[in-house]
Amino acid sequence: MDHDEALAGLRARGEAFLEEVSAEYHAAHAGHKQGAELQPIYERHRAAYDDAAFATALEAFRAHRPSASAGAGAGADGGAGSAMAESADARRHRSARLLLDWLGESRVGRELAAIEEREIAWESTAVVRAADGTEEPYQRVAITLANTRDAQARHALDDARARIVEAELAPIRRERLQREHAVVASLGIAGDYIATWEALNAVSLRDLRAECEAFLRDTQAMWDDLLPFYLKQGLGLTRADATRADVIALMRTPEFDPFFPGDAMEREVRRQAQEMGVSPDAEGRVRYDTVDRPGKRSRAFCSPVRIPDVVHLVLRPHGGQNDWMTLLHELGHALHFAYMDRNLPFEYRWLGDNSVTEGYAMLFDHRLKDAGWLRRYTGLGASDVPRFLHSQGFEELHFVRRYAAKLIYETELHGGRVSWDALPDLFVETLTAATGFRYQRADAFVDVDPRFYAARYLRAWQLQAVLDEALRERFNEDWWRNPQSGPWIVGELFGHGQRELAHEQARRVAGKGLSFAPVIAGIERMIG
Ligand SMILES: [Zn+2]
Repeated sequence: MDHDEALAGLRARGEAFLEEVSAEYHAAHAGHKQGAELQPIYERHRAAYDDAAFATALEAFRAHRPSASAGAGAGADGGAGSAMAESADARRHRSARLLLDWLGESRVGRELAAIEEREIAWESTAVVRAADGTEEPYQRVAITLANTRDAQARHALDDARARIVEAELAPIRRERLQREHAVVASLGIAGDYIATWEALNAVSLRDLRAECEAFLRDTQAMWDDLLPFYLKQGLGLTRADATRADVIALMRTPEFDPFFPGDAMEREVRRQAQEMGVSPDAEGRVRYDTVDRPGKRSRAFCSPVRIPDVVHLVLRPHGGQNDWMTLLHELGHALHFAYMDRNLPFEYRWLGDNSVTEGYAMLFDHRLKDAGWLRRYTGLGASDVPRFLHSQGFEELHFVRRYAAKLIYETELHGGRVSWDALPDLFVETLTAATGFRYQRADAFVDVDPRFYAARYLRAWQLQAVLDEALRERFNEDWWRNPQSGPWIVGELFGHGQRELAHEQARRVAGKGLSFAPVIAGIERMIG
């Protein structure tokens, strides 16, 4: 069987499988049924993701390496990203790479299922005992930390959490990471964990890490100004006393919530989409589910069940700035799915570089960091906007600095040069230096995103910033209400699905690569 035929088989089986999985998750999370019954679906669709499927994708991936074939130079990954310029070999390689990434992930998931179940069981039963004898279920600790106003009590509870994590959860997580490294190395894609990730994602972690190091240096002075101000104002703390436990308490700013009422949220967000010339429900393909239902998740989520025809946007409109931000974020995902070109193959609609879809979601949720948008669609008055924006700038800088530090640390965690026993100290040193909040050694194997998802978020931040800049240039700074910008976004961005890598897309639509420069410019606009 030739590779085109083999890939066509993988696509057909993969799409049928993911549609069922997605429908099941949607039913469970929206409260239409109690719990997801995934086992029968996995049984029925075994051929979609089994070892034979993996071997097929691996063979196509190897056979069509663009560098190994003549005349494919212009179309190699990292090139212009235009479908036209891409050779047939490069196109096959791109498809095989996406399919292989997904099938490899599912194989690792199967190998690690038992240890993952152990971890989930621990998390759902563990109890944290504070020094004063009070007990708290592990999974509630974050909420309690956010609501504890007394710093000493907060630190004591977090120390108690760290003790039980270090003794019980960290060893499970460390073993899981070690096993994951072994399984990934055995896939036969590239030498080690990092080389495999880079081969499957066509992104250089070493380059991204260097950009993160530069970002931390370039924004250090800004951070040194902002952090003491917010620590003192929000929690009455100095830098010397601030720990990771304080972040959660600090980032909760309920004082602005009255300006983001629940009953206006969906109406105003729909109005904005209409004003930029886009159907807020993509001509009915996005289905808003706003009714209250037992078992429905409280946080908004987007669930594509058939792409592009059936995309659920599920929310419970409570109101408050986080609720508005989540709705905008999920709407960015939903419109992306619902406006994808239906003729794109499975892997460009369902798989691909998630920096792209996260970038669109951030492009939408960053409207809460846009003075003109806030004045037009929220209850914030002209005099409240600068103060709110300033706090948004502080939050944004904290998040990007934290993720930059996470990526730097995770390249060491997965890089094999630092011993497992030395990693906890490196974790504390790296994260504490970047954020100014003291981290705990216990979290070195726990506060880790799966498969370098930190890289996707960092590239999404870069992509949304470059897109925002391009939209401002094309359609003015209030592009979000320019009736020409929506059709441009649909045609130039959403329609392409996730065929391109985030940096290829930036190059195509903005004529430049991804970088932190426009991210920093955005933060500077916020803090004024
Ligand atoms: Zn997202």
